[in-house]
Amino acid sequence: MIIVIRSSANSEERGHLMTLLCRVSGSQRPIAATRINGREVIALDGSILDAQIRSTISQQKAVERIVPIKTAYKLASRAFKETDSAVVVGDALGARPVVIGDATPIIIAGPCAVENREQLLTTAHAVKAAGAQVLRGGAFKPRTSPSQFQGLGVEGLHLLDEARKETGLPIITEVMEPELVETVAQYADILQIGSRNMQNFPLLRAAGKNSPGRPVMLKRGLTATIEEWLLAAEYIMAAGNPNVILCERGIRSFDPNTRNLLDLSCVPLLHELTHLPIIVDPSHATGRRELVPTMSRASIAAGAHGLILEVHPDPNSALCDGRQSITPEQLQAIVHETTLIAQIVGGKRQFSYAA
Ligand code: PEP
Ligand code: MN
Repeated sequence: MIIVIRSSANSEERGHLMTLLCRVSGSQRPIAATRINGREVIALDGSILDAQIRSTISQQKAVERIVPIKTAYKLASRAFKETDSAVVVGDALGARPVVIGDATPIIIAGPCAVENREQLLTTAHAVKAAGAQVLRGGAFKPRTSPSQFQGLGVEGLHLLDEARKETGLPIITEVMEPELVETVAQYADILQIGSRNMQNFPLLRAAGKNSPGRPVMLKRGLTATIEEWLLAAEYIMAAGNPNVILCERGIRSFDPNTRNLLDLSCVPLLHELTHLPIIVDPSHATGRRELVPTMSRASIAAGAHGLILEVHPDPNSALCDGRQSITPEQLQAIVHETTLIAQIVGGKRQFSYAA
């Protein structure tokens, strides 16, 4: 269930409610309210509460109403919020703001990893010229082997900051540790939580609590079901940050011909289940740059709100994920084609879940 807090509730009334909720839910942590649709709300698993307790909660002065929600994820559910959530990106740190989640698809592009100043700034200018609206670049890299390039760390964040100042593009970069959320949020317009960390619950909570409302792009785990993914989003939202963007990046399959299996059917399905914006990552999904343009077009046709693409000025010399990286010229063609496709399917996307 979702508890909607009365906007006129005073701190004493709220205090009573929070104490009651902690007691009945057995929570050892303070319960946080999240602002959605201009209202403060708290999600609770109502199935563990008996009718008497539910009624006591609803009679609290701080409570305006209770909305029963059947699904395990609540704040993320379409049942709770019928209208699409659009997330404003880039307004906090001086970039040119963009909206993710409305009819215009957003293209996020840049290198897998920030390698050095020249590589990042060259790529940043090139992706901007090609029509991308947000710059990606990993400073902290989750690599399968500890002997692979791990990223430049905080130095990479400084270079991303410089790239934002030069181009005006908002920045997205990955955060891997709960302790680093505040640091990364000082530089990043969007925090990325990678596939390998989709169920790192302390990290999800920290991204919800310590990232001053900075949008968080949550990538689907390598073998995560859609429900597990939405519940991971719910962790971030329940900790206080409603600005979550989902990113489908392919799931593990049996066939080594592609790096992962792009689950495009999740896009229209998510439109039905959730109000959160949905981005697709055809780079990690396919692992092969020759497949990226086709799957980019398909993703927008399926109703994605945008794409995240790995771009490198010289893909064959990239320190990370060169095989799936495209050139700025290829990016420009994708921007052009997906803009045309979005004009055809844009209106339909709004209605697909209502059918
Ligand atoms: C990345 O975006 O470079 C990355 C590591 O992504 P994923 O978590 O999807 O593997
Ligand atoms: Mn990568």
